[in-house]
Amino acid sequence: MNTVYPQSALHAGQRRNPAALADSALELARLVLVRGPVSRAELAQEMSLSIASLTRLGKPLIDAGILVEGELVADGTVGRPVRLLDVRSGGAHFVGVKVAGDLLQAVLTDLRATILAEASLPLAATDPGTVVDGIAELAGQLSFAAGVELSGVGVSLGGQVRPDGVVHRAPFLGWSDIPLGELLATRLELPVVVDNDVTALVAAEQWFGAGKDTAHFAVITVGAGVGYGLAIGNHVVRTPDTGLGLGGHIPLDPNGPLCMEGHRGCSTAMLSIPSICAQISAATGESVNYRRALELAAEGNRVAGAVFESAGRALGRLIALAANLAMANTVVLGGEGVELFAATEGTVLAALAADRDPEAAPVTLRVASADFTEWARGAAAVAVQAQAFVV
Ligand SMILES: [Zn+2]
Repeated sequence: MNTVYPQSALHAGQRRNPAALADSALELARLVLVRGPVSRAELAQEMSLSIASLTRLGKPLIDAGILVEGELVADGTVGRPVRLLDVRSGGAHFVGVKVAGDLLQAVLTDLRATILAEASLPLAATDPGTVVDGIAELAGQLSFAAGVELSGVGVSLGGQVRPDGVVHRAPFLGWSDIPLGELLATRLELPVVVDNDVTALVAAEQWFGAGKDTAHFAVITVGAGVGYGLAIGNHVVRTPDTGLGLGGHIPLDPNGPLCMEGHRGCSTAMLSIPSICAQISAATGESVNYRRALELAAEGNRVAGAVFESAGRALGRLIALAANLAMANTVVLGGEGVELFAATEGTVLAALAADRDPEAAPVTLRVASADFTEWARGAAAVAVQAQAFVV
């Protein structure tokens, strides 16, 4: 993940040259951001440093204004009041935008990726010019309404995105090699990060969700398709193939329906919203959306119930595969179709248990919000991560 800076800012020297923090300083700043306000003693313990080393590491961050010393609080462990460290959060605001096929969803967040406001815009067309116009309009609208200046903008979409912000391949938009980051940075006069949408969700979880408690976790998203992402050792896994959707066609049920690529019972065929709706629509003769499909299952409709039961078994199997192969004991479920889990929880957990060694550590499941704004928050999170500690 790299930030694309506006040419004018770099050339005119309006901004100080951005410099990355050293890994240890970045880790300290990240810890303070996700845990703060927090004591030096707690940070030292977390980072396996002495308090003296921790204080040395933090001094330049305080001098640069990235970290601030907060209120005095009683600390039982040292027997005298201590000043907690926190991040300078006042002025920093970010906009995250998720590009879907027919919609731009945007959120305004603070430095902790807390959603402060949201806005959306239907997309009349998917050419780069229309998408850039729409993102610029939403960013302007959100910052104006809140009366804040933006520190950066993050954009996420389903597809392969290069570190330089070029969208290498996004079939749902009909794009190949579109320099979206550069187009937006020039237009907005702001630093811009573009990332794959599932990877952005993993990044958001890594700093502000599951990653607070564990260094290794997998993310499975269920929605228009099925997404898979991974954080290992506190790092979000990014490879050139990230964004190809390789987790979307894992075989899960030899008796399942076919996906559009002809795989029988793959993750997309078993779990995606379009496939579940198509199966129920075909069997009932009623054209159903996902909300209606869930209702039918809850009302005891046998066809809908059977489709969701099969989907629940497949989801349990996919969670077990992720946990077993990635050796990650925490799996985050997200995406706008994540209600599948609540609707079939018993089935999911039974299928997960069946495919998991009983001696293995139990799998911790975190269920994220099905709200579409979660995707936009992920985009904001990558902008936060790229910009929060630029000095
Ligand atoms: Zn498939």
